[in-house]
Amino acid sequence: SQIFLNGEFVERDDAKLSVFDHGLLYGDGIFEGIRVYDGNVFKLAEHIRRLYDSAKSILLDIPYTQDEMCELVCETVRRNALTGAYIRLVVTRGPGDLGISPYICKGAQVFIIAEQLSMFPQKLYEEGITAVTAATRRNRTDALNPKIKSLNYLNNVLIKIEAQAAGANEAIVLNTEGYVVEGSGENIFIVRDNVLYTPPAYLGALEGITRATIIELAHELGYVVKEEPFTRHDVYVADEVFLTGTAAELVPVVEVDKRVVADGHPGPVTKALHQAFQQCTRHVGMK
Ligand code: PLP
Repeated sequence: SQIFLNGEFVERDDAKLSVFDHGLLYGDGIFEGIRVYDGNVFKLAEHIRRLYDSAKSILLDIPYTQDEMCELVCETVRRNALTGAYIRLVVTRGPGDLGISPYICKGAQVFIIAEQLSMFPQKLYEEGITAVTAATRRNRTDALNPKIKSLNYLNNVLIKIEAQAAGANEAIVLNTEGYVVEGSGENIFIVRDNVLYTPPAYLGALEGITRATIIELAHELGYVVKEEPFTRHDVYVADEVFLTGTAAELVPVVEVDKRVVADGHPGPVTKALHQAFQQCTRHVGMK
């Protein structure tokens, strides 16, 4: 595949960065995951805006305007002749020395990868996944503020390891106060008595673009959506649970910490939203 790297398109094997890059040495950098459906880049402007917000927050200068970056993403998709893809857009602090200071780094490195990705096997999108709550907690106030999509995803990696260790497909993270926050790379929704609940981002979740889309679709379908804190108990007794994210899309959860969610099958609200999401991802223009 053709990968965009610092101003040019190179073959996969030629896409290389320095071992002195602070993105690698210190996780000093930011990223976005973006999807392409039927040749259209979904919510591109929103993803680019979030990327530039992350960059601003960590004082990282990106050598392109937001419009130029949008065009580079589209060009990467075109060059690879992809109609369905997952795009990874990364900006690192760039090569420096072994000190932490970003000020000696020689400038941001930008790369864009477009590849096929299915987070879970198709069967699990129909039947639902199993999840456990993770022992790893999310601290919502430290520098790893989850609103910044930084390259420092160790918290999320540890959560994924916990899921694997427990024999589950995914893990749900709580914050240090015990409120449910999100999955390892997805936002979480629960349904109780036909009302949708999702944790407010201030609890320590990323403000997911898929989450915003699902909230919009839920409103269009006439559902009430409440952004309210809830606990593990509320997940156990929910009628429905599902996760949303660019990579995972919308995936039902049918078991949490060995508690079967309702009757163990994806519920009607989840199914209705999944269908609405499918329709809206397939009817968007490239912008
Ligand atoms: N939460 C985390 C920690 C993530 O990394 C992601 C993925 O980007 C999400 C949630 C879902 O966000 P989005 O729907 O914007 O992909």
